[in-house]
Amino acid sequence: MTEKKEENNLMEKIVSLCKRRGFIFPGSEIYGGFAGTYDWGHFGVALKNNVQNSWWKKFVDSRRDMFGIDAAILMNSKVWEVAGHVANFADPLDGGQFNTMLKTEVGAKKDEVAVSYLRPETAQGIFVNFKNTVDAFHPKLPFGLAQMGKAFRNEIAPRDFLFRVREFEQMEIEYFLKEADWEKYFEYWRGEMLDWMEEVGIDMNKVHELEVSPEDRAHYSARTIDFEFDFPFGRKELFGLAYRTDFDLKNHKLDYLDEEESKKIIPHVIEPTFGVGRAVLSILLSAYCEDEKDGEVRPYLKFKPNIAPVICAVSPLLKNKPELVEYANTKVFAPLKAEFGRVIWDDNGNIGKRYRRQDEIGTPFCIVIDFDTLTDDTVTVRDRDTGEQERVKVGELVGFIKNKLD
Ligand code: ATP
Repeated sequence: MTEKKEENNLMEKIVSLCKRRGFIFPGSEIYGGFAGTYDWGHFGVALKNNVQNSWWKKFVDSRRDMFGIDAAILMNSKVWEVAGHVANFADPLDGGQFNTMLKTEVGAKKDEVAVSYLRPETAQGIFVNFKNTVDAFHPKLPFGLAQMGKAFRNEIAPRDFLFRVREFEQMEIEYFLKEADWEKYFEYWRGEMLDWMEEVGIDMNKVHELEVSPEDRAHYSARTIDFEFDFPFGRKELFGLAYRTDFDLKNHKLDYLDEEESKKIIPHVIEPTFGVGRAVLSILLSAYCEDEKDGEVRPYLKFKPNIAPVICAVSPLLKNKPELVEYANTKVFAPLKAEFGRVIWDDNGNIGKRYRRQDEIGTPFCIVIDFDTLTDDTVTVRDRDTGEQERVKVGELVGFIKNKLD
């Protein structure tokens, strides 16, 4: 019972920190909100971008067999009929089935109005560009297409902060291969997904794999593993890995000329899928810590430096001493900002208050320019996790921080 209460408390703490510190705000808040929507503030966007960039770097830029795509959110409604979503993309409600695709109408003149849907997954934007990609790049099997982008679902009961919302972002890969290879690559992608989770700082002790039973699998899947995370509200799906067989390409009547065997085949597909919001929520929950400093509880976000929205904060000890401000600005802030971008100026309140604020933002390093700096060209660098401070030569600062980022 106490544990449950503490866990609920943890969600409240995260939600309130996210709002107070400018990460994530409830959507349309000044009009009473709009269920299942959130707006990302300055630090939230930075965190989200870092998560997405790390994903793209690992799964697209560092590989030879992966192509990127950014397809339209609005698609011809035939896509959703053929893909089976018009018939099957539904959740149970009042004894019936409620289709959770968000329907809309496109076009102005009566006879030109077409029904469309805000895409409920990014995957179909990949499948419909399979032929374009093959024609443009002539890739050999196996190869993949990757996409990051918005998806919409008219969830019956949006809840648990970013966990179940109506507008969210996905990062998906469709990896095309020969049928005989599916098991090998299913295993391979399982490992790649786990590696990435660790890289972005998801607490791997809280990640569990669930083999989804045939009755519970999506209509297109012949095997699915859910990667579940121990959220404060229960163990729930974080990401998924599915073997979609040749279901989608076959339905879209797409095939591939296998040059080795000089015949047309329909490639099979392994699909690693990631929700950006669930990734961010699990990273926040994994990073949140409290310890005691000077008899007070200190909450801080122990982000990995490559994921932290701010890499370092620069502070002149006193903001009313022009010589400190001038030095901090020109010799410390400007070069760090040019090098890392995610660097902020913080001269608000006393040093203790600044540290507390930066701890809550999860800034790994706070750099303070004091009177000694003016005579010996060194600054203090304070470590977020240990609170320890060391003097570093101003000329060596960029290298010092760079080392910590690797
Ligand atoms: P759930 O069973 O929790 O509804 P799902 O099985 O319908 O999820 P998928 O269709 O596999 O989810 O979607 C792929 C990924 O997109 C999920 O693993 C999750 O990270 C994310 N996702 C799906 N629905 C939502 C939502 N409503 N809000 C936030 N993220 C979502």
